[in-house]
Amino acid sequence: MKTVAITGGAGFLGSHLCVNLLNDGLKVICIDNLITGNLKNIEHVKDHKNFYFINHDVTKFISINENVDFILHFASPASPSDYLVYPIQTLKVGSLGTHNALGLAKEKKATFLLASTSEVYGDPQVHPQNENYWGHVNPIGPRGVYDEAKRFAEAITMAYHRHHKIETRIARIFNTYGPNMRAKDGRAIPNFISQALNNKPMTIYGDGTQTRSFCYIDDQVDGLYKLLNSEYNDPVNIGNAEEISILQLANEILKLTKSESKIVFKELPVNDPKVRQPDITKAKDKLSWEPKFSLEDGLKKTIEYFKKFL
Ligand code: UDP
Repeated sequence: MKTVAITGGAGFLGSHLCVNLLNDGLKVICIDNLITGNLKNIEHVKDHKNFYFINHDVTKFISINENVDFILHFASPASPSDYLVYPIQTLKVGSLGTHNALGLAKEKKATFLLASTSEVYGDPQVHPQNENYWGHVNPIGPRGVYDEAKRFAEAITMAYHRHHKIETRIARIFNTYGPNMRAKDGRAIPNFISQALNNKPMTIYGDGTQTRSFCYIDDQVDGLYKLLNSEYNDPVNIGNAEEISILQLANEILKLTKSESKIVFKELPVNDPKVRQPDITKAKDKLSWEPKFSLEDGLKKTIEYFKKFL
């Protein structure tokens, strides 16, 4: 039986990966310090015979006394509102946490997968973004703590690959949504759905013309799996290329929830990217992967999930 250690395993992406890995017959060691992760996300697998949970901050040395075949490094605050609350933890988990996770991969001769991000492209001047673009990031802005930590994480991952010859994968994850996001996560989709279901005002930041491209969680997990099982070491964008403005997104959620919420406009956060859309040519070519869920289908599933908790 193969063993996988996953940092951030109680978070949104991590918890979905835990379930899929267990279903595939792997032993799963889930490591999380629960600052933004939640035990509720792993409640239904916690008694599984191949599942182990360790409450640990991965910015501190990680010790596992058994063989590990794969290390998936997913620990990090991931919502802009979270990295404003946890700026130092965000920097540390992307830098020190990645170093520790890579050290473990080297020790165990494990394959390492880094959860990187479209934020490495910053407020992009190339559109759509392909993997050759070096990005446009403000290192000292409020988002810099996340963006620069992830850029460092990519750099040290490639250094471990080149210098220590460990097998590494880098997924540049674009906006992803679905069940297990927190209602108070702060990101656009959970905010809009909880506001709409509670008939509260929908808070659009700026004029809502900024764009994003949203990937449903099942597609994201499928892409990450294909990347892990490939032999591809360079970064790969994993996301949905269907681009939509934030105002259109809010209106779509209003329609699907049949809500009577009003739209209100609030100040645009500093350095909020104006556009974002992945070029997924590489994922299609190298991984034979592309997303299957339309935004409407994914939103319907996510709305059903939020209805149970609100
Ligand atoms: N946004 C918004 N209202 C909200 C939350 C987010 O208008 O209540 C906007 C945000 O300013 C950004 C976009 O929606 O332009 C996506 O934000 P999110 O926090 O989901 O993630 P980001 O893509 O910025 O990392």
